[in-house]
Amino acid sequence: MKVAVVGFGFGGSSVAYEFLRQLPDCQLDVFAVGDRASCAASGMCHPYHGRRGKLNENGLEAFDTTLKLFKEVQAEWGEPIFQQSGVLRIMAEGHPNQTQAIEGDLKAYDVQEKMGWWIPEGVVLFSKLYLKAIEGVLKKRGVNFVDQRIDSIDALGEYDRVVWALGSGVHHFEFSKKHQLRYRKGHALYVRLPEGVVGGKHAYVNGGHFVPTDEKGVYVVGSTYEKEDIWGPSSLERARSELRAMWIEKFPRFDELEILDVRSGVRVGIRSGYLPILEQLDEKNVAIYGFGSRGLLYAPYYAKQAVKMCLS
Ligand SMILES: Cc1cc2nc3c(=O)[nH]c(=O)nc-3n(C[C@H](O)[C@H](O)[C@H](O)COP(=O)(O)OP(=O)(O)OC[C@H]3O[C@@H](n4cnc5c(N)ncnc54)[C@H](O)[C@@H]3O)c2cc1C
Repeated sequence: MKVAVVGFGFGGSSVAYEFLRQLPDCQLDVFAVGDRASCAASGMCHPYHGRRGKLNENGLEAFDTTLKLFKEVQAEWGEPIFQQSGVLRIMAEGHPNQTQAIEGDLKAYDVQEKMGWWIPEGVVLFSKLYLKAIEGVLKKRGVNFVDQRIDSIDALGEYDRVVWALGSGVHHFEFSKKHQLRYRKGHALYVRLPEGVVGGKHAYVNGGHFVPTDEKGVYVVGSTYEKEDIWGPSSLERARSELRAMWIEKFPRFDELEILDVRSGVRVGIRSGYLPILEQLDEKNVAIYGFGSRGLLYAPYYAKQAVKMCLS
């Protein structure tokens, strides 16, 4: 069977990997070009949402699927691409211990009763490294990568099955217009902590997030949810000022952070809920999009169903 996957963010990469799992002999080509939100993702993944920590729909199953994928890619790639160091979710706005929690001076289990809750299984993925790793693994298994924009679902007529995992690129395609989609730009800053601040090993979430990276002392501080100027270039100044307003009370040394990079992307959400869209467009085309802020939780889980849909 000749298969094409269009898009190589968390959605497309999970679909490509799953195709090879379910159909090891297929001929698989991946088409992708342009920006991807997945490179900007701060890398947090756990099965819950909101301040009250409600379990997401199919959250546990989806989380297990994601974790299994990360472990497999890491084992085959041979370098660390994620850490399971937990997520601290703060509920008490303005709690005096918040700064120490960010700085790593308080253990998660010291604070969970009073400030929020602790998700020990929570994961931090090093998003860019991961995408490089999964691409490397797929190339080793014979997948062909083509750096090409595909502008119409009729353009890939020679393939038996095509999965469209376009992220925000879906707004150019007619099939997405029947859904009420919400596009939100997000910026996150990569920063080095000031002298003398150790930093927590875990991800810290309180509206925004403070997340460790693969480099010691370097954190992702995120993130913005912008409604305007969605398709314009990313702006370090705008990101810095919005994130400063969000963090300065919780982390008064914000101005001493050394800003190393800004990453941005456009999230695609569904107005009526938070579950992504998986749809059969016709007998050979399937589309998967609308992961919002939960790409890591749901992409591998929905990818399994996308491939099943293609093969049924
Ligand atoms: C700042 C920020 C922080 C985030 N943090 C997290 C987080 O911590 N945890 C989490 O789970 N989620 C997070 N998210 C959300 C997450 O990034 C998205 O859910 C996820 O990236 C969506 O993946 P995707 O594959 O659908 O889209 P994308 O990653 O955008 O991939 C789309 C792909 O399609 C390709 N493409 C598009 N159009 C075409 C075309 N016409 N032809 C060929 N190729 C095309 C693009 O090049 C790209 O490869 C964050 C998002 C942002 C912006």
